[in-house]
Amino acid sequence: MNEARPALLGPAEIRDLAELLGVTPTKKLGQNFVHDANTVRRIVHVAGVQPGETVLEIGPGLGSLTLGLTEAGADVIAVEIDGRLAEQLPKTVALMQPDASLEVVHRDALKVVELPGAPVRLVANLPYNVSVPVLLHLLEHFDSLASGVVMVQAEVGYRLAAEPGSKVYGAPSVKAGWYGAWRTAGQVSRQVFWPVPNVDSVLVAFERGEAPGTEAERRATFELVDAAFQQRRKMLRQSLSGLLGGSAASASAVLERAGVDPQLRGEQLDTAAFLGIARAARG
Ligand code: SAM
Repeated sequence: MNEARPALLGPAEIRDLAELLGVTPTKKLGQNFVHDANTVRRIVHVAGVQPGETVLEIGPGLGSLTLGLTEAGADVIAVEIDGRLAEQLPKTVALMQPDASLEVVHRDALKVVELPGAPVRLVANLPYNVSVPVLLHLLEHFDSLASGVVMVQAEVGYRLAAEPGSKVYGAPSVKAGWYGAWRTAGQVSRQVFWPVPNVDSVLVAFERGEAPGTEAERRATFELVDAAFQQRRKMLRQSLSGLLGGSAASASAVLERAGVDPQLRGEQLDTAAFLGIARAARG
């Protein structure tokens, strides 16, 4: 069969829609809309979206990526904070792809704890100012999410996928590591956005793994991670002293019980090592 592909949004449609809604993209909400169909199809392809599966999209905006996901046959749940965009999206999708399956949730993604379905995949061009907290929040609250591909600011993407010891390894890297394996999955040109952002973008992919510990252990581990990276240059026996008994000596004792050299810095430890410290502190 030689069916025509449903149209995605191009530059003219993006501007028309924005004008129709009276939307001036705001920096505060990280509103940079993709107006390039090839980029959208590339993201959907890299994400490996399958027909019939439930995909979660955060920040659908004017619907560029949403239409790519529905075109691939996904049932999409889209969470959008901006009321005008949330209201328009079902209309845009119904017009361009009448058979598409879409549920729009008008909410702040950082606060959403329930969804109308159990998404297996996250695919999103995330609002850059909150991309890490949004990712961690979603992974914490939605166990059904087994994998995902998100577009984020390049710096953040490299940090999420960084290995211990690398310059950009930080608290987001360790916390993301709790949930599974992360890798960067390609760069995206600034020119595919309207307005053109003043930062570079990359795709980051993750595959969820088995949770390495309990929820209580996750909380304790993340607390240690925050403390270790708040004082990045300090040795762990100092940066963690507040959480491990109040002195460098008490912290050293716990670290040694966990098999971690007290003279190391946080940037040298992986998620499992931080979890080991949390367990040693409790036991
Ligand atoms: N997906 C669209 C695209 O690719 O063209 C828009 C992406 S734009 C980078 C980010 C979107 O996230 C905007 O639509 C913005 O309104 C929305 N947004 C910002 N903060 C949000 C939040 N806390 N929860 C849900 N959506 C948010």
